[in-house]
Amino acid sequence: MKAITISQHGGPEVLVQTEIPHPVPKENQVLVRLEYAALNHLDIWVRAGGPAYPVPLPHVLGADGTGVVEEAGPDVEGITVGTRVVVLPGLACGMCEFCRRGMDNQCHQFEILGAKRHGTYAEYVLVPDQNVLAIPDKLGFETAAAYPVSYLTAWHMLMGRAKLQPKEKVLIVGAGSGVSVAGAQIAKAMGAYVYAVTTKEEKVPKIKSLGVEHVFLQAEKSDFSKWVFELTKGKGVEIVFEHVGPATWEKSFRSLSKYGRLVTCGATTGPKVNLELRSMFGKDISILGARMGTQKEFMELSNLIFEDKFKPIIDKTFPLAEAAEAHKYLESGQQFGKILLKIGK
Ligand SMILES: [Zn+2]
Repeated sequence: MKAITISQHGGPEVLVQTEIPHPVPKENQVLVRLEYAALNHLDIWVRAGGPAYPVPLPHVLGADGTGVVEEAGPDVEGITVGTRVVVLPGLACGMCEFCRRGMDNQCHQFEILGAKRHGTYAEYVLVPDQNVLAIPDKLGFETAAAYPVSYLTAWHMLMGRAKLQPKEKVLIVGAGSGVSVAGAQIAKAMGAYVYAVTTKEEKVPKIKSLGVEHVFLQAEKSDFSKWVFELTKGKGVEIVFEHVGPATWEKSFRSLSKYGRLVTCGATTGPKVNLELRSMFGKDISILGARMGTQKEFMELSNLIFEDKFKPIIDKTFPLAEAAEAHKYLESGQQFGKILLKIGK
């Protein structure tokens, strides 16, 4: 089958289209003929290489994908060949203490598709049978490929961790990124008031088009926490949605109200931050980490998308053969929404 593989780590140029053996499903596995894949920053980290993502080479990247079940292995029940599906990107053992408690995103053997095993930048992908979900006929493969990793992470942050309630105020920091766009859409769909901060002027009207009430254009030395306190009449916001890290952390923290929750899924500008402990205990503030999301949350999120409560935003689609160009585009940071690879005809 055709696949985009990496045979060495490096820049986008290491992504090369090659022929690799056609996979055959074993027990409890299904083979999906892919129509679309989507890019995530994870793909860049795995491509670039490093101790966090050791992979045997050659390797196929890609966590997000949609397509049609082509073949089911022995013992697979309840999945019919020909079903249109979205692939769940999180792989868990199903047996450890965390899996049994429904916290499968913390499974001892947790991995993300395309990080260790072959992913979706290919004509076919092999996944456990519990990692496919049928999608409604009215939902396009393209739209369905755009939501798994980004929207599940945002859902887990807001709903699973920060327990967002209707009418609460949410501040989205670094609002032009894929996970932040997802966060803004989910917060709006759940009835929140949404404030957003971005450094990119050209993204302001696009962020507003999501229904975000207030957008702050961050200049180098400006302090968005003052803006937040003016708009909220000195109260602050109940939830701050973070992934930027040290570049914004202290302003994000200062933007919180009493009983505020800061939830983060990333460390884009570095791994270490300062924490003002007196404000933390003085205001009953919670700091919450979030790693992708659980299978149960994936079902909750999928149901909202299937009911058309909001539509994942797609920025641009490249043919599979142009995966290297797609990576360059992702790294440029110009995009607003997901970047897709078209695989099917
Ligand atoms: Zn497990």
